[in-house]
Amino acid sequence: MKEKIHAKFKARFGAEGIFYASAGRINLIGEHTDYNGGFVFPGAIDKGIMAEIKLNGTDKVRAYSVDLDDYAEFGFNEEDAPKASWARYVFGVCREIIKRGGSLKGFDTAFAGDVPLGAGMSSSAALESTFAFALNDIFSLGIDKFELARIGQSTEHNYCGVMCGIMDQFASVFGKEGSLMRLDCRSMEYKYYPFHPKGYKLVLLDSVVKHELASSAYNKRRQSCETAAKAMGVEFLRDADMDMLNAVKDRISAEDYKRAEYVIGEKQRVLDVCDALERDDYETVGARMYETHYGMSKLYEVSCEELDFLNDIAKKCGVTGSRVMGGGFGGCTINLVKDELYDTFIETAKAEFTAKFGHEPKVYPVVISNGARKL
Ligand code: ADP
Ligand code: MG
Repeated sequence: MKEKIHAKFKARFGAEGIFYASAGRINLIGEHTDYNGGFVFPGAIDKGIMAEIKLNGTDKVRAYSVDLDDYAEFGFNEEDAPKASWARYVFGVCREIIKRGGSLKGFDTAFAGDVPLGAGMSSSAALESTFAFALNDIFSLGIDKFELARIGQSTEHNYCGVMCGIMDQFASVFGKEGSLMRLDCRSMEYKYYPFHPKGYKLVLLDSVVKHELASSAYNKRRQSCETAAKAMGVEFLRDADMDMLNAVKDRISAEDYKRAEYVIGEKQRVLDVCDALERDDYETVGARMYETHYGMSKLYEVSCEELDFLNDIAKKCGVTGSRVMGGGFGGCTINLVKDELYDTFIETAKAEFTAKFGHEPKVYPVVISNGARKL
């Protein structure tokens, strides 16, 4: 990728710059926990964005997207916002740095990536964190890593119209090879856990469907969580347990009860996975992943036919762990698979999924890798 980018950079700008990169991410477990003040458990992956950057002595950014073969030029003022959506990520990062008091000068850049767009691995966070990290380094701005993640998040909010949480950018900035990170979404404390699944592979199966339900269902789920928390007298479901929930069972709807039951279970499953990883116990990790899938499908009801089907195939093939990753209603399952079962699993999943739904799932093997860095 480096050579490909440099060839384009040289042809366009006739010079040599410095290389930076950042990564997409997976979330092993901890879904719909962020807005309940709970834990998520992401890691950076071996798919990311790479950029070559060089100061150009002007007050403009000249940016070339190698993958889209598109070029944009823009200044640093609010009214200079480029039209192309890919360029708005770069512009947004610059603006958010400036808003925080950083001063920037014009630069040339060419960048490319291998995070599939919109597949649930957060190519956008990889893009933002590459530039946030790079500009912080090049201009010696001294911005701490958490603020770099926030710069990416604010870019999405203010320049790309995506009201995301902090997990994706956090994972992309803080990611470390061989480590997953437990992020406490209330206190923002985080801890690295070893992830060395020797003898196993991690693979995402992308159903390539996105059901319309997602955003209205999301709002309804949040509402249920708030109602249940209120009934128990806690701010967040993270502070509740099943005894507390059962004590208010006849004061909330059966639906709100199920939603809260899932969230309370999910908090414990993340903690169980953390313990298991410290013992290298990947069988327990896998068992909790299946439980999460069950909870998302039957209690939180955010799965869909395609994802349940992929989960069933995994179970049938003896895959160690499998669950829907992300908010639900489409997207990927994440699977922890023993090496020796991998080929059979992938072949079976492709064949059976295609027979039922008329198209293949996409297959993305991932390895937990480093996040934002200078090359
Ligand atoms: P994801 O879930 O992958 O983050 P998003 O829709 O949030 O999906 O972000 C995808 C957008 O990020 C693309 O439409 C594009 O604007 C930008 N992007 C991501 N990767 C690249 C890339 N390699 N080259 C150019 N733009 C990219
Ligand atoms: Mg995104």
